[in-house]
Amino acid sequence: MATIDEMIAALARTRDNAVNDLQRLKEKGTKIVGAYCLFAPYELIAASGAVPVSLCGTSEEPIAHAEKHLPRNLCPLIKSSYGYAVTGTCPYFFYSDLIVGETTCDGKKKMFELLERIAPVHVMRLPQSNNRPGDTAFWKQEIILLKKRLEREFGVIITDQALTEEIRLRNGQRSLCRELYGLSRLDPPPLSGSDLHRVLHGSGFAFDRAHHSAQIRALIDALREARERGERSAPAGRPRILVTGCPVGGATEKIIRIIEESGGTIVCYENCGGAKDREFPVDELIDPWDALTQKYVRLACSCMSPNDARCELLSRLIDEYAVHGVIDVVLQACHTYSIETQRIRELVQKQKGKSYLSIETDYSQADEGQLRTRISAFMEMLH
Ligand code: SF4
Ligand code: SF4
Repeated sequence: MATIDEMIAALARTRDNAVNDLQRLKEKGTKIVGAYCLFAPYELIAASGAVPVSLCGTSEEPIAHAEKHLPRNLCPLIKSSYGYAVTGTCPYFFYSDLIVGETTCDGKKKMFELLERIAPVHVMRLPQSNNRPGDTAFWKQEIILLKKRLEREFGVIITDQALTEEIRLRNGQRSLCRELYGLSRLDPPPLSGSDLHRVLHGSGFAFDRAHHSAQIRALIDALREARERGERSAPAGRPRILVTGCPVGGATEKIIRIIEESGGTIVCYENCGGAKDREFPVDELIDPWDALTQKYVRLACSCMSPNDARCELLSRLIDEYAVHGVIDVVLQACHTYSIETQRIRELVQKQKGKSYLSIETDYSQADEGQLRTRISAFMEMLH
């Protein structure tokens, strides 16, 4: 019987193993579809028989190459993603038969134009909001256009039945992850914020879904049993932190590390990779195309204007997870999240009466000292 640490390590390794897994899938003739955003409807891609994989760059390494084509003053996520693609150093990109992009922020939208020069790209056009008449119908049309592109590209017909089945499977994965991170409502949470992040991040690269679900189930059960035996992973009463904002991973895991080293406990990730997607399953009781459309058009991303969904989600999570402080991560030159800090600050401080810190960062480690100073001062205030 594996220990909890061994289970976590195995789940965190999912991402490292993904390259070999993808290679095996390619050898068997499986199509791979790369995506850069939560708006990519994975259920639809999977219903075409292809395997979706995230291509978001999280390392500083390829940024210098990207800056030969892209402005320096651009979000590091876009530069890193593009840099990996043009230097041929991302195996996931290499194996991708099609790239699915979306017109989220301006930087990404324009980057896809350049990416089209080196790979087949299908860009989905997003409505600017999700609360006006026509927004949902517009997005449904984009979902249908992607369906047609996948069918044409891979010579398949995507049936309602296949989509319904993929919706069911992905909802199942969401539900398990929700159950896992939901344990962080406890004080102390049974899983540290960094371990939770490693597991959630790995789950995006789990191509053997049945095996991965069994691993998550086993971890949840083991954590519950350990709790019942009175085992605690950390002392109770530490400041409980919710992380929101731009996606966090790879180079920006420095933020998670610094929060924990400063005495904070991360109990919730609202951003992509956390609750933003997983809190909202696709409705299994209505037409699958309508259900898919509604699920994705309602994503609480700052590219939506206004982005009421993010405030509603944050407000609920702050209560459910008994949060003391919110840390809003903004990647350098991300205008939408940066401007939205104003609204989020007001929500957290005035409406919820909690503490708020917004931090701007990039993929270098040069700002670690400055981040440490600001985050430790924030934790001091919460103690
Ligand atoms: S923050 Fe928005 S644009 Fe960025 S990956 Fe998430 S959903 Fe996509
Ligand atoms: S972090 Fe901001 S700028 Fe970067 S890709 Fe996401 S929305 Fe665009």
